Amino acid sequence: MEVSPDYAVQMHGITKTFGSFRALDGVDLDVRKQTVHAILGENGAGKSTLMNVLYGLYQADEGEVYLGGEKVKMSSPLDAIAHGVGMVHQHFMLVENFTVTENIILGNEVCGAAGVLDMPRAKKEVEKIVEEYGFDVDPDAKIEDITVGMQQRVEILKALYRGADTLILDEPTAVLTPQEIEQLINIMHALVAKGKTIIIITHKLHEIMESADVCTIIRRGKYMGTVNVSETTEEELASKMVGRHVNLTVEKSPAKPGETVLSVKDLHVKDRRGIEQVRGLNLDVRAGEIVGIAGIEGNGQDEFVDALDGLVKVESGTISVRGNNIENTTPRNVLDHKVATIPADRQRLGLVLPFTVAENSVLERHGEETFGKGVTLDAAKVRDFANGLIEEYDIRPADCVDSPAGGLSGGNQQKVIIAREVSSQPDLLVAVQPTRGLDVGAIEFVHKALIRERDRGAAILLISLELDEVMDVADTIKVIHHGQIVGSFEQGTVSEEKIGLLMAGGGEQ
Ligand code: ADP
Ligand code: MG
Repeated sequence: MEVSPDYAVQMHGITKTFGSFRALDGVDLDVRKQTVHAILGENGAGKSTLMNVLYGLYQADEGEVYLGGEKVKMSSPLDAIAHGVGMVHQHFMLVENFTVTENIILGNEVCGAAGVLDMPRAKKEVEKIVEEYGFDVDPDAKIEDITVGMQQRVEILKALYRGADTLILDEPTAVLTPQEIEQLINIMHALVAKGKTIIIITHKLHEIMESADVCTIIRRGKYMGTVNVSETTEEELASKMVGRHVNLTVEKSPAKPGETVLSVKDLHVKDRRGIEQVRGLNLDVRAGEIVGIAGIEGNGQDEFVDALDGLVKVESGTISVRGNNIENTTPRNVLDHKVATIPADRQRLGLVLPFTVAENSVLERHGEETFGKGVTLDAAKVRDFANGLIEEYDIRPADCVDSPAGGLSGGNQQKVIIAREVSSQPDLLVAVQPTRGLDVGAIEFVHKALIRERDRGAAILLISLELDEVMDVADTIKVIHHGQIVGSFEQGTVSEEKIGLLMAGGGEQ
């Protein structure tokens, strides 16, 4: 692409290495002024790295950057800000006990004649921007008291206050509810209408279709092309992103639920600080069905799962598996009732990273006849078993049986956990955020595995912060809010908006 003043940003032939690892390999990005330009790629593709180069946080090894047709060199974020480039990071950088206005002006204070901070003037300026773009934020509220969605708007305001013409948003929707995503998309369009340019990083295809004009795809640090969003499909984007055809729709037959396997009644559980997090939760999961729980992080999901797994004490209420009460027993007892869990934190709870893949494939299965007598394991049997799983689940690299699990990629680590948990043929499989951090290809695999288990007759409890995942995979969709189930729907009978509203604590069912 020729260098031209029509483009807010042009990055040509950007290469960036970390040690011997090439995170970016000759990547091009041409962002036309006053457009929303998406950057799509799997986890680890190099999206944040590319934007950190633009924002002056990283120095590229090779390549040029042009803003409005002028060649620039960004040595630091201060340089970038001076050139009108702002960035909202994945993790916010706000001061909790400061107000919205204080955070916005922090580090960029307007001073009066005597060099003293002119707070009223700063406040007026902030209010002007808030009004101009129709932001829904209270300038006097403290950060700790406002929602994540509002905090994000504060970050955007902060960049605008510093005079950003081009705004980089790194995975901005990961932390938002559907309503907040809607609002963000509206804000993006309002900004573009007023002359700004937006670069948005995401790996969610439908968000690109809804919000962006143009999309650049990168795969493993390489440029894969740029497409006009109006001329492409989610399928085309997905296959460009992962390099093969991916099935985006979850295919499954209707559930044939059998008897109740898990029954939770009026459950109350406190967190480590003694604050009640599960507040009278009721739930049943039958054999042969997937019950999905949608909810915003921190609404009691973690404490509920810990109670299910026998890791924390239950204050009151019951948890029974096939009629046997398992609350306040032991994790071992829970396992003995054929409950398997795919934990949210696979590196901490799911795998022993320094152990080999073979060892990890039989964790918790000491004492079973299959793997030798008593407490000792028969190493050869374990290796055979693990190799079987590696083949069946296509865990890569194929010769990883004696390698430490910590050396595998996130997707392959997750496959090891799923292979192990599923191979024990559980009656109840609890899958917590089973696809977190995985790319589309691996997500497809995990969802198929859950459905296969369902069809074998297991009861599946899926707990996820990804609303799409719950909507697509679960036969029954439940919403958790404030430690209670606040809604329950058969798949296909409820809109995403309705679920989103319930997740945020709004609306009676
Ligand atoms: P994405 O944002 O597309 O998920 P990143 O740009 O964060 O990916 O990372 C691309 C690759 O570069 C990853 O393999 C990551 O581990 C590596 N990487 C990113 N930043 C650093 C760093 N500071 N040091 C070493 N490796 C890094
Ligand atoms: Mg990133």
